[in-house]
Amino acid sequence: MNCIFCNIIDKKAHAEILYEDNETLVLLDIHPLNYGHTLVIPKEHHENILEVPSDLLKRMIIVLQETAEAVKTAVEADGFNIIVNTGRAAGQTIFHFHFHIIPRYKDDKVTKLQLKTYPEGEFKKYADKIRLVINNKVKKNG
Ligand code: 5GP
Ligand code: ZN
Repeated sequence: MNCIFCNIIDKKAHAEILYEDNETLVLLDIHPLNYGHTLVIPKEHHENILEVPSDLLKRMIIVLQETAEAVKTAVEADGFNIIVNTGRAAGQTIFHFHFHIIPRYKDDKVTKLQLKTYPEGEFKKYADKIRLVINNKVKKNG
């Protein structure tokens, strides 16, 4: 498998590494939405958020929180977005799980996703559809 992030982790490809520990690596995104755009990745190869073991994900969240605060301070951002693209349809291009931390500034021109409005009756229908799957999963897991 040829994975650019695995190659970076193995130091076979260059990256601006900001932090690493036994399980996690933090690096600058090469094509930033704003300067300082940072990625937090697990050292183990997992394709997406659904594939990452939950214990690892929990530990990554702590690194994510600390890194987001550090990035915000370092680049003097007004805020930041944390984004996880999952699947080609959602814009995922590297199939090694990663969190994006995107610094944001008041009035920056990074575009917002287009928001929809539910047609009459659909709001509850979607809620019911999702609740059904959540409840089945809760039952299955005891
Ligand atoms: P995705 O679209 O999969 O959510 O995000 C992949 C991200 O990885 C993109 O923002 C892209 O700019 C970044 N990226 C792709 N190749 C490289 C690389 O070789 N080095 C670094 N540092 N970032 C990369
Ligand atoms: Zn990988």
